[in-house]
Amino acid sequence: MLLFTPGPTPVPESVRLAMATPTLHHRTPEFEAIFKEARERLLKLLGMDECVMIASSGTGAMQACMLNLCKSKALTVNAGKFGERFGKLADAMDKKKVELSYEWNTPCSVADVENALEKHPDVDALFIQVCESAGGLRHPVEAIAKKVKEINPDIMVVADGITAVGVEPIDVSHIDALITGSQKALMLPPGLAMIGFSSAAVEKIGAGEDYYFNLASEIKKQQKNTTAYTAATTLIIGLNAIFDAIDEEGVDALYANTKARASATQAALEAIGFSMYPQTPAPSMSTVFDEDAEAIRKLLKTNYGVNIAGGQDHLKGKLFRINQMGLIPVYESAWVVNAIELALDELGKRDFDGTANRIFNEVYYK
Ligand SMILES: *Cc1c(COP(=O)(O)O)cnc(C)c1O
Repeated sequence: MLLFTPGPTPVPESVRLAMATPTLHHRTPEFEAIFKEARERLLKLLGMDECVMIASSGTGAMQACMLNLCKSKALTVNAGKFGERFGKLADAMDKKKVELSYEWNTPCSVADVENALEKHPDVDALFIQVCESAGGLRHPVEAIAKKVKEINPDIMVVADGITAVGVEPIDVSHIDALITGSQKALMLPPGLAMIGFSSAAVEKIGAGEDYYFNLASEIKKQQKNTTAYTAATTLIIGLNAIFDAIDEEGVDALYANTKARASATQAALEAIGFSMYPQTPAPSMSTVFDEDAEAIRKLLKTNYGVNIAGGQDHLKGKLFRINQMGLIPVYESAWVVNAIELALDELGKRDFDGTANRIFNEVYYK
């Protein structure tokens, strides 16, 4: 079965093997050397001044940022499940918040953020997804971050890049915290959350908040290549193996290949009658709105060996989402669009003539 859900993504064999080595104790020079290597490579990938790796799913990193980087009021952007989660975290952490809401296909705008900050001058942190995975939507986060800093450089810009880091280049010039997780573009099992920080963010964190998610104590420990609590040793060993796998062709090739697969998939799907759901599609996943999404997904799974994701909440049964993150062999992506065309034929919606596969290959290779 081809796993084509936008997280978890398949773990490469070399990485699974690296993680099968005997367990190490985390408070040893051997593990500290591994940690140091992972930390340096992560800092380079994120392009930020500081970083931490925490044993938790991605949501833990979102919570840590809410706790440690928002002191007076949060501005959250809700254009899907994950943006909504920032708002719920603010409520759960007893932070004041103001939320900008959008339909899941609509990106946040610079002007909306500008207006919100004008109305709420006590906002000290913005929380936004780079890619909102609920609808495969790319927010113009770099332009928004730039405007926020023009208005008030003390406002922290927290960007959830869980489906963007390792997918596409992100301009972090005006971003203070960039969150990612292990099970999406980094092709690892779930359980490791990572955050990059600007030096302004490190300053604002100060003595930190909370106990397990106290970012000040983590930063202090991790600068010495250890962690406040037991490190996710196996996943950190896996992370180095992921960096090795990416480095075989280089991160720029990874970005270029991801973009090329996303463009070829989009063109193939459009050629057989679909249209993309988000107004601004992110390269991490190809998201389509279709009333028969559930029937298509089911046929893909039972007859063609492909597992893709559906929609959630009000879009349950109406969306399908095809993963583009990670080191994906291009023939697998070509098979996915071909299988979708075959499923349309089975459903009596469109006669199969090989268009999807042809267009995919034309766009990818020509
Ligand atoms: C997957 C994802 C998360 C985190 O989810 P976890 O299940 O906690 O790892 C957060 N934000 C986005 C945009 C995601 O895609």
